[in-house]
Amino acid sequence: MKLPQVIIKKKRDGEVLSHDDIHWFLTEFDNGGIQPAQMSALLMAVFFKGLTRSELAIWTQVMLESGVKLQIESSHCVDKHSTGGVGDKTSFIIAPIVAALGGAIPMLSGRSLGHTGGTLDKLLAIPGVSIPDTNEKIEQLVHDHGLCFTGPTARIAPLDRKLYGLRDVTGTVENQDLIASSIMSKKLSEDISGLVMDMKFGVGAFMKSQEDALSLYEKMKDIGDAHGVKVLGVLSDMNQPLGRYFGLAPEIHEVLQILKGQEEPTDLYHLSVVLAALMVQAGSIESDYAKAESRVKEALRSGAAYQKFCDIIEAQGGDISSFEKDGFYTQASHKWDVCAETSGTVCGMDTEALGYLLVGLGGGRSRTDADIDNSVGVELHKKIGDSVEVGDPLMTCFVSEGSEVQEVLTGKFLACMDIRTSDAPNLPLIAKVM
Ligand code: URA
Repeated sequence: MKLPQVIIKKKRDGEVLSHDDIHWFLTEFDNGGIQPAQMSALLMAVFFKGLTRSELAIWTQVMLESGVKLQIESSHCVDKHSTGGVGDKTSFIIAPIVAALGGAIPMLSGRSLGHTGGTLDKLLAIPGVSIPDTNEKIEQLVHDHGLCFTGPTARIAPLDRKLYGLRDVTGTVENQDLIASSIMSKKLSEDISGLVMDMKFGVGAFMKSQEDALSLYEKMKDIGDAHGVKVLGVLSDMNQPLGRYFGLAPEIHEVLQILKGQEEPTDLYHLSVVLAALMVQAGSIESDYAKAESRVKEALRSGAAYQKFCDIIEAQGGDISSFEKDGFYTQASHKWDVCAETSGTVCGMDTEALGYLLVGLGGGRSRTDADIDNSVGVELHKKIGDSVEVGDPLMTCFVSEGSEVQEVLTGKFLACMDIRTSDAPNLPLIAKVM
């Protein structure tokens, strides 16, 4: 006979929990036999004492088994996970590329979190689009089109939703073991054989240091290895927004530019190519990296990836032509340039603060039930390393607010830009491929 308080005290005192302890505790909580207060206490004990590799494996397994796995039935089923940042829109570029090359991608994404915009919220900036809400709908879309853009359904790792709800209100979100099990329980529910991790680090990322990003990667890779999933990844820089736009509709606009080849290759293009090529490898579509990369570039150049994107958006009820016709430029009622007040070189950006400015303008959520204004966003004209003269536009802001806030906002946006008469730090976009 097990008692919740005995297991809580064991973890509190730094002991290793047995397979049975973890299985029993989590399953009982899921079935209502253990109270949320007791689960919260165990979460806090884990927050401070951590989980060993074998504890983490069983913890994730119970979360995975709380739901029903997708049945994709493809040997090329592969997904990507990003730990999130500002302007990160690679999912919309790489999923259609990999699908065009024969992959099966049930791209399972999340909502906006903190200062970062979520893929699902960006998707909903396209008029009419819907998110498949059952496993069967996801399976059908991936079967018919090779991909879909979706979130966890009620049957995908439901225990994660319950635990996340508690973590959110008990100060236990920021623990690498809890994060790794939460992410991997959902990813493993997708029937994937490969997974690519975009581990972001820097001022705009949740993990500020490369060491923290790498340690979370290793935990997730361990879990993937134990389930026979080929995990590859990169450590990528998030000290400045990725690409030229951030904000929901503006980011979809930039995605379309890249898919249609209308953009000079930017950091967004380069990172997308690397992530897509790694997905092609992880999904066993092509074993050689150089060949994978050249096939990825060809899928972009030929328009095959753009066509895939249009097909899946249409299949999910979205109207890409009306998005392209109306554009976000016409939706935002007010826009203005933020111009440099000093000359020099852009040496850094407070990317997290830029993300929160966007949230404050209605481009993100300040409470879980808040609506998001799709058209709010920023177009960056200067990135780290660029030189600027007084009066040069650094960025264009798109808002729905009246012009009276413009002056205050300009000051806040300017305060995020570090312009000096010194050399900018050399920040490689990809610090490590793993
Ligand atoms: N994303 C998740 O899915 N879970 C976490 O715990 C953190 C980020």
